[in-house]
Amino acid sequence: MTRYVLPELTYDYGALEPHVSGQIMELHHGRHHKAYVDGGNKALERLEEARARGELEHIGELERTLAFNASGHALHSLFWRNLAPHAGGRPTGELAAAIERAFGSFDIFRQQLSTTAATIMGSGWALLVWEPLSAQLVVTQVHDHQSDCIQSAVPLMALDAWEHAYYLQYHSDKTQYIEAVWSLWNWQDVAARYQAARTLRG
Ligand code: FE
Repeated sequence: MTRYVLPELTYDYGALEPHVSGQIMELHHGRHHKAYVDGGNKALERLEEARARGELEHIGELERTLAFNASGHALHSLFWRNLAPHAGGRPTGELAAAIERAFGSFDIFRQQLSTTAATIMGSGWALLVWEPLSAQLVVTQVHDHQSDCIQSAVPLMALDAWEHAYYLQYHSDKTQYIEAVWSLWNWQDVAARYQAARTLRG
């Protein structure tokens, strides 16, 4: 059976400083993200065992556990690739035009994504997604890693708003952390994902 694998980062743990500390990156990738990879693999194993034994009475719990961990793995994998040292600024080209069409302007989009992340009750993510049914970009607020999703949505850009993403450096100042991440967005990565996703239709 296929297993999930923790991806290597394409930059050093300290490369996103001063915006996100190396200590946060090391714990976030090496401990938290790894726990989702391990938890996803464990859930797959338990599902395999349950099928082999014909014991499906706990299937709901196992599938919920798989959804939580696999979604955590997916969003962290996206988040790491969305960020880069010495990045930030604004998108250009077709991605910039699509953002303006969907949100009115880049500044309004930025405000919406930041507010979406800041207003999560508990743990969650703010995502920029391609929504194939309406063929446009949308911002969504995801609770934990997997709740309140639009099922058709393809995530292009993920902003981790769990406390583990910022607490060691920013303490309770989540807004300051969210502002700092705007200096790290790798728009080339987001644009490449947009170009691939926009060919999908509902
Ligand atoms: Fe996280």
